[in-house]
Amino acid sequence: MRPLQMVDTKTQYQKIKKEVDAAVIAVMESSQFIGGKTVSDFAANLATYHGSKHVVPCANGTDALQIAMMALGLKAGDEVITPSFTYIATVEVAALLGIKPIFVEVDPKTFCIDPVIIEKAITPKTKAIVPVHLYGHAADMETIMAIAQKHNLFVIEDNAQAIGNDYAFSNGKVKKTGTIGHIGCTSFYPSKNLGAFGDGGAMFTDDDALAEQLRMIASHGQSKRYYHDVVGCNSRLDAMQAAILDIKLKHLDEYIAARRKAADFYDAAFAGNDQITVPFRAANNTHVFHQYTILLEGASRDALSQFLADKGVPSMIYYPVPAHRQKMFDAFGGSDYHLPVTDWLTERVISLPIHTELDEEQQQFIVSKVLEFLDN
Ligand SMILES: *Cc1c(COP(=O)(O)O)cnc(C)c1O
Repeated sequence: MRPLQMVDTKTQYQKIKKEVDAAVIAVMESSQFIGGKTVSDFAANLATYHGSKHVVPCANGTDALQIAMMALGLKAGDEVITPSFTYIATVEVAALLGIKPIFVEVDPKTFCIDPVIIEKAITPKTKAIVPVHLYGHAADMETIMAIAQKHNLFVIEDNAQAIGNDYAFSNGKVKKTGTIGHIGCTSFYPSKNLGAFGDGGAMFTDDDALAEQLRMIASHGQSKRYYHDVVGCNSRLDAMQAAILDIKLKHLDEYIAARRKAADFYDAAFAGNDQITVPFRAANNTHVFHQYTILLEGASRDALSQFLADKGVPSMIYYPVPAHRQKMFDAFGGSDYHLPVTDWLTERVISLPIHTELDEEQQQFIVSKVLEFLDN
């Protein structure tokens, strides 16, 4: 059996090595390392895949979120509503711009922002809602968009973990997550479902003017070379990453299918175990399983994690500390929040290895070790 890892980017690379190596060499030979056709071709292909009018590449997912907030004109003193149960980047960029993140609860089933609570958190200072499609499951976008429209708010989707998820509205219309809000943001961090061999990110929008703003801000606020209209930053996807991502994009649906198959295997193996709650899958979206995260009850999570580690099975806690309890947010009144669902989840979640290269032998071993621990 191959050694177990949370994510196996090496085996994945070996399967597409020829294509990837040739593409990287082609970039080196072209010596067009920043911008150029390789980057614009990838952006166009990604836009086609998503059914999105514009894709603006950038340096990473964190930048994408920051540039999105800047492009929408969010500024110091404004408020954005976000979950606390998320990766820190989502809320850190708001704080960096002097925007106050307002943390709300998540739905204990989907782990995504609870739309019922969003409305109660809206104040005259609220400018945007930033839902996170955590672990690959979509937030309740239909309700979130309705709330945003009613209160005239922007929606920035953090789609870093859910690229490729098909979200169906109640009228039957299907859209990819990341293309539903005003701007969608994603990350190509190597372990993400569409991962580069380094850093990368992108922003999605159907709005021409907004796309122009995003493009300008990501490039020192320049409207044309050496003419800088707004304060921006420097955030570029380099050509080598774009070349690699363009190849991996062709395999994305197959990668998602492999992740979903691995999730099915776990679901079946854990069915009926009353100490494990397997990931919830709403019927209206295709969970892309960036993580396979279970809830553990009546057993010590730390003891399970240690037991598994001793048997060569890695596991991770995403995330052990919610955003509102991070020291970073002391200055934003983080400790004043009362978010029992978020706290409850952070104490119980544990993620098992899931990636495109897991085989049944590996999964059987992982499952047998989890169940062996719980039987004791
Ligand atoms: C990975 C991730 C980000 C940040 O992406 P980087 O490319 O690492 O900057 C933001 N939000 C979520 C939910 C993520 O998982």
